[in-house]
Amino acid sequence: MNVKRPRLTVGLRLLLALCAVASLATGLALLVQDRALSGDLEQAARSRLERAAEAVDLLVERRLDAMAERYRAISETPQFRANLESGDVATLTYYAERLAQAQGAASILFVDAAGSSSAHAGDPELAQALAVQVDGIGREASAFLFVHGGRPYTVGALELRTGRRHVGHLVAAELLRAESVEEWSQLCGASVVFAFAGPRRAGIARTVRTLGPLELRVESSLEPERMALDRSRRRLLLAGCVALALAFSASFPLARGMVRPLLTIQRAAEHIGRGNLRVRVASGRRDELGDVARAFDWMLERLGESIEALQRSQRHLSRAQQLARLGSFGIDPDSGVLVASEQGRAIYGLPTRVGLQLEDLLACIHSEDEPRFRGALEACLGRGTPFQLDHRIVERNGDRRVVHSQGELSTEAGGARLEGTVQDITERKAVEEQVRHLAYHDGLTGLANRRLFHEHLALAIAEARRRDGSVGIVFLDLDRFKRVNDTLGHSVGDELLQAVADRVVRCALGRRRRPRDCSSVVARMGGDEFIVLVPEVKEPRALGRLARSILSELSRPFDLGRLNLVIGCSIGIATWPSDGADAEALLRNCDTAMYHAKERGRNSYQFYSEWMNAASFDRLVFEDRLRRALEGGEFELHYQPKVEVVSGRLTGFEALLRWSDEELGVVPPSEFVTVAEEIGLIDELGRWVLRRAAADMRGWLEAGLPPFHVSVNVSGYQIERGGLVDLVAKVLEETGLEPSCLDLEITESVLLSDEEGAVDVLEDLRRLGVTLSLDDFGTGYSSLSYLRRLPIDSLKIDRCFVQHLSDGSDDAALTAAIISMAKTLGLRVVAEGVEQESQRELLHELGCDELQGYLVSAAVPPEDVPRLVQELVQRRPKRRRGSASRRRRRGSGRSRRPTG
Ligand code: C2E
Ligand code: CA
Ligand code: CA
Repeated sequence: MNVKRPRLTVGLRLLLALCAVASLATGLALLVQDRALSGDLEQAARSRLERAAEAVDLLVERRLDAMAERYRAISETPQFRANLESGDVATLTYYAERLAQAQGAASILFVDAAGSSSAHAGDPELAQALAVQVDGIGREASAFLFVHGGRPYTVGALELRTGRRHVGHLVAAELLRAESVEEWSQLCGASVVFAFAGPRRAGIARTVRTLGPLELRVESSLEPERMALDRSRRRLLLAGCVALALAFSASFPLARGMVRPLLTIQRAAEHIGRGNLRVRVASGRRDELGDVARAFDWMLERLGESIEALQRSQRHLSRAQQLARLGSFGIDPDSGVLVASEQGRAIYGLPTRVGLQLEDLLACIHSEDEPRFRGALEACLGRGTPFQLDHRIVERNGDRRVVHSQGELSTEAGGARLEGTVQDITERKAVEEQVRHLAYHDGLTGLANRRLFHEHLALAIAEARRRDGSVGIVFLDLDRFKRVNDTLGHSVGDELLQAVADRVVRCALGRRRRPRDCSSVVARMGGDEFIVLVPEVKEPRALGRLARSILSELSRPFDLGRLNLVIGCSIGIATWPSDGADAEALLRNCDTAMYHAKERGRNSYQFYSEWMNAASFDRLVFEDRLRRALEGGEFELHYQPKVEVVSGRLTGFEALLRWSDEELGVVPPSEFVTVAEEIGLIDELGRWVLRRAAADMRGWLEAGLPPFHVSVNVSGYQIERGGLVDLVAKVLEETGLEPSCLDLEITESVLLSDEEGAVDVLEDLRRLGVTLSLDDFGTGYSSLSYLRRLPIDSLKIDRCFVQHLSDGSDDAALTAAIISMAKTLGLRVVAEGVEQESQRELLHELGCDELQGYLVSAAVPPEDVPRLVQELVQRRPKRRRGSASRRRRRGSGRSRRPTG
């Protein structure tokens, strides 16, 4: 929580409040105290003044009484009586003067019974004032204060009698001196003054007696009270200050103590703001603040539990979203504020900071898809149009992913809001792409397959039609690939196909493998067939150049680990529109061209030309005739003798197929046997050969010819298909032939494709009692080590070795090696195609057992066999020149001499 602390903290407020309260209370207490005190003091002063006034009054009364007493005493003296009774004014005056002198009176006056003054002494004016004053006085004596001339006097009026007769009054006035007043002041404890009546300047006063314009009063200055009050105030102030200081110093810890739990709660709240919900206030206070702190902790506890539950469910949700690779997001249309779930952020690659905006989302979208995405968002935010689209996003590390975004405007929570989901579909897209790739590509080589090729070709033709151009295709088929597959196994075949694909691609596309628009496409059409599409052909010669470069590329040996294979190919070339109006025709004609290249001797290329269709037609006719020949029994077997090299004596015959068609003429077996194998006719043909040969043999034996054996050629397909062992057993049984009379010639190619299976078949055949010969030894992939494992009886050295025997070439050495090795393995060796005596002589020297060839005889029809047997059985070895040509001539009487 990043809240700026208020300047007036709660602690300070509390402190100030406490201080204010303390100050106020102290001030109030002082004020009340002061008021009470000053009231009390004034009251005390007033009662003091009252008492002083009473005292002064009493003092005045005493003084007056004393004066009256004194003058009474004087008046009762006989002297005074005598004077009075005389009534003589002069005497009285004299007496008054003496009396005044004696008593220190200011004036002495005698008033007669009539009330008029008879004699006086002292101040006459005072006497006169007194006479007026005394007029009306009763007979009794009295004393009073009197003011005259601004001075106070004590006056005593005394009734004078002689006997019972009232004679008048004696009036004496004595000046009240300042000393007397001073004395009174001291006695009553206040100042006693005579003053004019009226307002006083300061202090308090009490009038004791009023005497005309003057009054006798007691005054007090209040000064002592004021000083006492001041002293008291000073003490109170000091006490107040001390109390305030104590209050201040006490309120500070109090305020701190009260605020501390609040601070703790605040700090806890800040921790919570930072995401730490484990923080606790843990207050042990037993007051309301403690209660607040405990309530806070309790609330945190509950909050923690709820948040944990929330987090748990969010985790589950997030996990579920993660599994589904699904995220969600929302956009506020007014502010553009974007919120996204964790998974949503991860999928879009949004920044992790808070306060995301719509623009942050747009920044993640691939630049090519961004306008589309922005348009969809704006339409949704503006018009409420829901959207769904697949688009790419670019992650910060540069990776690209494909996602599916969808959204709609929701108005549920009051205001409108865009709610959307996003799903990572990169893998799905990749799988789709992979499936598409698999559907359109060859699994082995990764090249386009037939389907994709057809699509490209159709497009290329459409495009060429538009711009009046032409399209070329170069179709190639590997020569003798089947043989590789059969002899070396499919894995080697596959490896070879991959290597071939690489080289063809290199020729057609350079280093690139992926075809671009308007550039060549290489496809594998199946098996060992490849095709190159050249969508824009400027001149046909370019196609010829491409074909030549493919031929030369493929002529280099292929290094396949333990093997170095050389394989050729035959190429057909065709262009649209000249060689076919549509894709189908174009492909068919290109295939024809390739076929012709193959026929022309393989490892060559051929442009399509119309006459080729006629040739293809010929092949169809040929196949058809072959089938019908088998059905119609048009095949024959001719027999070529085998003789001992040393003696020239007959050992047996090899049965060789002959076919002479009415239209095609004599067809050599090298041609039709291959076709029969290709079109699956060889099984039936092979069965026929075996039966025919066995039947002929049976006939010859029955005719009494000496025993020999007959060799029958067996195609590899017959061994592969199975059923050969049963067939041989059945034929032997049907004809009753000795199994040893039958020899089967097999070529090594069958042994190499499925060696174990083939060896099993061969062993089964040997168990029947027939012998086995390995034909055409030395032409294939024959390895001498194979021989050890094969259950064979003899080895037939191919004609090509024998042909060059006398040339002194390497073949002689090779033949010698083959013969000696075969000998060590206990095999008989038969040399094929021996035409010359020199060859026979050499073979003789090399230790070859048997020979076969025109030197002895070409293959002859069955009816010639008995004669030939007679001749050869009796024969001695002769060294005659020219015999080969003689035999040849004789052999060609019925059969055409086979070529190569
Ligand atoms: P192959 O088994 O090697 O048969 C020997 C071939 O060499 C025969 O050719 C034979 O006429 C020829 N030949 C024999 N001596 C000489 C000679 O001194 N000089 C020359 N230049 N050639 C000689 P043919 O009859 O044309 O047979 C060709 C191939 O046809 C045979 O070769 C064999 O592989 C196949 N074939 C023939 N008959 C049958 C058959 O009944 N079944 C099967 N599966 N294949 C057969
Ligand atoms: Ca043979
Ligand atoms: Ca042979």
